[in-house]
Amino acid sequence: MRFSDLIGNDALKASLVKMVESGRTPHALLFVEQEGMGAAGFAVALSQYLNCKNHVPSDFGGDSCGECPACRSHANLAWPDLHFAFPVNATASLSDADKKRPVSRLFMAEWNKLLKSNPYFSEHDLAEAIGIENKAGNISVNEAKEISDTLSMHAYDSDYKVMVIWLPEKMNMEASNKLLKLLEEPQPGTLFILVTRQIEKLLSTIVSRCQIVRLQPMEQYQLAEVLAAGFELDEADAMSYANLAAGSYGRAKELISGEESFTEADELLRSLLEEALKHSLAGVLAVSENLTGLGKEAQRRFCIYAENYIRKIFMMSENVPGISYTKRQEEDYIKSLAARIKPTFYQKIIGALDTAIAAIDGNVLAKLVFTDLCNRFYLYI
Ligand SMILES: [Zn+2]
Repeated sequence: MRFSDLIGNDALKASLVKMVESGRTPHALLFVEQEGMGAAGFAVALSQYLNCKNHVPSDFGGDSCGECPACRSHANLAWPDLHFAFPVNATASLSDADKKRPVSRLFMAEWNKLLKSNPYFSEHDLAEAIGIENKAGNISVNEAKEISDTLSMHAYDSDYKVMVIWLPEKMNMEASNKLLKLLEEPQPGTLFILVTRQIEKLLSTIVSRCQIVRLQPMEQYQLAEVLAAGFELDEADAMSYANLAAGSYGRAKELISGEESFTEADELLRSLLEEALKHSLAGVLAVSENLTGLGKEAQRRFCIYAENYIRKIFMMSENVPGISYTKRQEEDYIKSLAARIKPTFYQKIIGALDTAIAAIDGNVLAKLVFTDLCNRFYLYI
């Protein structure tokens, strides 16, 4: 995977290349991203650039050659000094012994296939690929031991052994402490690349031992251009998806390919708004029951979809429809909502949706989250 294969974050690509050229690559990097920005892909591209024998210097574009043995091996994710650890859980296909201590090594074929086909994959995509959809993945102390064992062996073919830890926020305290020890006493020639979406959940002692690298969302017009070209969308649709995905290419891709889940969120939100506007508490609670019955990812998607949709109504109510990138076919309906909703609703309900997303991520009981959220629609509207 070359840097040029990845969409967005051009300034970051250049700075990673300069870091390698300066000879001051630290022993631990912490990539901070939002879902769908492709940080796992950036980690592979960096490992490839470090090992490419003919890499192009920054003044001439700064990328790996794509043809040398190291590049070819990275393209297949088969480079022997590039390792991955990620959240897993027991699945039916594992042996009884492995079920007791599931680790990433047991799912490497699925991981490689996913990362090669879509470096912007979501946590849900990984859960689906390895077959743990209804369980939370985590990084256990057994995994931390495997990381330690892997790094204690000599590098095969390079100056660096690269260990990519995807979502270290899924480590429990025991695993975190073990990782901290490894970061405190780095083996020469080891590069840790941690990829997080929730830096606040990491031990501060881990964060302080890493150089922080933040991936940035794409400008919406730029993302819309990429989407329009890549998915043959018209300008309004491309802008609408870019807006909904908040500058994340992976999210936009998921929204475009997953019309179904998008439709589900749309239907639920519309009935929630209508029931709340009718002041029907029973109707609002019926929607909350439906939301409670969804899977965690669909619940999260609903909240994000609702936030974006409510922003559009707000923009419409402020008479700035141009900024809201509303699809033409939904413009009239959004106008009618804007005419019926109190001006105080928007800010309060976006705050409530943020709280709901945090509660879902924190595994708060769904019934509590959605009863509270739907009640607030009823009260605030
Ligand atoms: Zn190369």
